[in-house]
Amino acid sequence: ATPMSVMVGVGKAAEYGALIRQGDALQTAGKIDLVILDKTGTITEGHPAVTSVHAVSGDEAQLLALASGLEMHSEHPLAEAVVNKAKEQNIQPLNVTGFEALNGKGVVGDFEGDAIRLGNRRWLESEGIALDGLADAEKAITEQAGTPLFLARGTELLGVMGVADAIKADSEAAIQRMHDAGIRVMMVTGDIDATAKAISAKTGIDEYRAEVLPEDKADVVNEMRAKGYTVAMVGDGINDAPALAASDVGFAIGTGTDVAIESAAITLMRGSLHGVPDAIEVSRATVSNIH
Ligand code: ADP
Ligand code: MG
Repeated sequence: ATPMSVMVGVGKAAEYGALIRQGDALQTAGKIDLVILDKTGTITEGHPAVTSVHAVSGDEAQLLALASGLEMHSEHPLAEAVVNKAKEQNIQPLNVTGFEALNGKGVVGDFEGDAIRLGNRRWLESEGIALDGLADAEKAITEQAGTPLFLARGTELLGVMGVADAIKADSEAAIQRMHDAGIRVMMVTGDIDATAKAISAKTGIDEYRAEVLPEDKADVVNEMRAKGYTVAMVGDGINDAPALAASDVGFAIGTGTDVAIESAAITLMRGSLHGVPDAIEVSRATVSNIH
């Protein structure tokens, strides 16, 4: 495209709230045939809330006191949900020491000489904790697209909490527009398969990869580019920065982290996924205008 038509296109995209930070992104955007979406904060609001608490002993307040004592040391959105739930119920967090966050797994600390762990099934099982006793509660959580977080003291399972993050009201419509433009849509998430499956079904996503560790998201982008796709990556988190940088066109959610915004060619100021098909349509119009 001519410099003039690019300028017009960049201005047009800005009207839609798609801020183009790298000049060539406008021209590449029209060629995108695969969009890879992060889940939390991108497809969903990114403000999860605890929707159910299930204690093996029946004492749910005790469970929340221990869980919030751990999560008050973490900055993860899931941690915020747990801390808020305890606050809501006027539950005082217990004094958990030696806190550590494990990427893609959960959090661990000490209480009265025991290791307290809160996290996903895969990690707790790898620590020798049997989770089968709560299979029904877990199923009820995942069927509603929630994320189960298991709490254990030593190797004893104490309970499970369901944490759910609302899907943005317009995510499904934006994904439909990508389909209408002939684009394949994929989701990558650190969350478990059952939750990823439920979110995909609700929003019309063609394919998903679940339990992807933060450092492996960029590998998925590279894999799909090697298959010949022109890949857009859309994300908001620190975790997403390498994947955004590896993609042909990175889209950062404007309300996301600075690191994500700096790694992406385009910033979606309105936080809506509609900014992706908007930018693609503007790009296609801009490029075809000069032929
Ligand atoms: P996402 O890709 O969805 O942003 P993360 O890689 O941050 O996910 O986390 C993946 C999984 O690791 C979570 O779904 C959760 O099971 C577990 N996890 C991570 N951080 C925490 C935490 N602070 N408390 C409990 N579980 C956690
Ligand atoms: Mg995210």
